[in-house]
Amino acid sequence: MTKNRPVVLVTGASSGIGRATAFALVEAGFDVVGTSRDTSRVTPLDGVTFLDLDVASDKSVTAAVQQVVDRFGRIDVLVNNAGIGLTGAAEENSVAQAQGVFDINVFGVMRTVKEVLPHMRARGSGRIINLSSIFGLIPAPYLAVYAASKHAVEGYSESLDHEVREHGVRVLLVEPGGTNTGFEANSTQPDTPLQVYEKQRRIADQVIATAVRDGDAPATVAKAIVAAATDRNPKLRYTTGPLAGRISTLRRIVPSRIFYTQIRKYNRLAG
Ligand code: NDP
Repeated sequence: MTKNRPVVLVTGASSGIGRATAFALVEAGFDVVGTSRDTSRVTPLDGVTFLDLDVASDKSVTAAVQQVVDRFGRIDVLVNNAGIGLTGAAEENSVAQAQGVFDINVFGVMRTVKEVLPHMRARGSGRIINLSSIFGLIPAPYLAVYAASKHAVEGYSESLDHEVREHGVRVLLVEPGGTNTGFEANSTQPDTPLQVYEKQRRIADQVIATAVRDGDAPATVAKAIVAAATDRNPKLRYTTGPLAGRISTLRRIVPSRIFYTQIRKYNRLAG
């Protein structure tokens, strides 16, 4: 720990985007605290202090944030990166499965925000950077619960940003397109598969696997997160990678009928 270096907490820093972000934030001059549900399995990263954290547990979030404040005295930037996917047609996902995803992707964000925000407000400054997705902006057939969770993160973040600006805190969104990480391998499978969706689900799984495999490097997303953490006048949204940028623009300017035809084509949907 070096005096006067800004302090950042990155959730889910054991792999993928979170790990690349922790690395990039060290390079950018931050004291970095990264988290994992099981730090005993994490490969150490120079300049990063790892703490155990399960964002689905109130107790775990309270304890982790307290540890950061005790050790570093403050949190300047919170990066809510921890997240999980869930594949399958919406009808193939039980409500319990959907609740499990929301508990991490949505309520996990709310838990960390509620613990960190009082510290930021007390100091009159801070940034909260929430990982959304291009699927926070557009439909994602056969990833409906995941898309719903990221749309929720969008609505929550944008609303919260308006509430906390007057306290010197900003809430920003990073919206990656397909990024080459273990995300797809770590995604949960549907717990109530139905024959009627099987063929289309397999196609959708291929589309997702290709998007992740051929996607941007995690470092590309990390760069956008560093920009969100350090830009003098930050943007509300940082869409990362050329494809996600194009899709985000098209979503806003192309008539829905045309946009929806493209969505069906991209996802190789019948009919
Ligand atoms: P990874 O599966 O590689 O990383 C996910 C991270 O989340 C892991 O470090 C994991 O840590 C952590 N995590 C999972 N569950 C929990 C939990 N309950 N509590 C705390 N941490 C948890 O995927 P990515 O790096 O790709 O994903 C990072 C973020 O980026 C996610 O929010 C994802 O939705 C988003 N994103 C990813 C895209 C992609 O194409 N890869 C595209 C758009 C958005 P551990 O297992 O050690 O606890």
